[in-house]
Amino acid sequence: MANSRYEYVKGFELDDRILPNIWVVVRIDGKGFHKFAKAHDFEKPNDVNALNLMNHAAVTVMEEFRDIVLSYGQSDEYSFIFRREADVYKRRAAKILSYVTSLFTSSYVYNWNVWFPNKKLEYAPSFDGRIVLYPTDQNLRDYLSWRQADVHINNLYNTVFWNLVLKGGMTNQQAENELRGTFSADKNEILFSKFGINYNTIDPMFRKGTILLRKRTQIPNLPNVKRQLIIPLYEDMIRDKFWKEHAEILGK
Ligand code: ATP
Ligand code: ATP
Ligand code: MG
Ligand code: MG
Ligand code: MG
Ligand code: MG
Repeated sequence: MANSRYEYVKGFELDDRILPNIWVVVRIDGKGFHKFAKAHDFEKPNDVNALNLMNHAAVTVMEEFRDIVLSYGQSDEYSFIFRREADVYKRRAAKILSYVTSLFTSSYVYNWNVWFPNKKLEYAPSFDGRIVLYPTDQNLRDYLSWRQADVHINNLYNTVFWNLVLKGGMTNQQAENELRGTFSADKNEILFSKFGINYNTIDPMFRKGTILLRKRTQIPNLPNVKRQLIIPLYEDMIRDKFWKEHAEILGK
């Protein structure tokens, strides 16, 4: 009903367009996934199917939003990096955030059975979402370094903790006491001496998180046919090497 006397209420909606020329990061995180992981019997410390399902949902989001140049996931969270010039939904923050968060969530549910064919989804999961803006390339790199350092710290701790509990026969409380005040080197040493595990040989997806990038790939035997694929990488983003090898991300 155009021009009704009620239409003035539309004027209460505020302009939430994002500043031009800035890195836009959307980060989603599962609500109460500590409980969700328990309810669905996720393997400790890392359930590989749960991570693959997260990656699958993130690929759905990247297929829909072509302006995402890189995505980074770990545990129950994913970060989506939109290129500076992105003009999607006229840069309206609420539109972008709500579409990304709800598409991620619906894809997570839609594809549950692909990764857990024999497990019932017990209840409807939800994800929170936020937008953070980073003015400089260095800010963006520091953001991704921050998330990747977080994976390292958490994964090293959780790997030792769950080995102490599941293989070492400790209670959760005993394992916690054992680890209190330890440094990385101590944790590596416990893993190696008690369980014969060299931390560096653990699945890189667990140690580094998952980076999703777009790459142009040649189709085998068809020299003129190239396709853009979304590929997963499990590399270190903290050092310069990654940014030199994938210079297209920052447009350099
Ligand atoms: P919040 O609602 O505040 O985010 P949360 O319970 O989701 O609370 P997080 O800090 O986000 O807390 O941590 C997510 C938790 O989900 C992890 O600590 C872990 O217990 C569990 N989890 C997530 N992914 C996996 C996985 N792939 N394998 C095993 N456990 C997982
Ligand atoms: P946008 O993405 O901009 O919201 P849209 O296609 O969703 O585009 P809306 O203005 O939100 O457009 O309109 C929703 C449309 O969905 C309706 O015009 C109608 O065609 C369809 N629709 C929604 N609910 C029903 C329903 N219960 N029965 C039949 N059609 C429906
Ligand atoms: Mg949290
Ligand atoms: Mg969470
Ligand atoms: Mg989390
Ligand atoms: Mg609609």
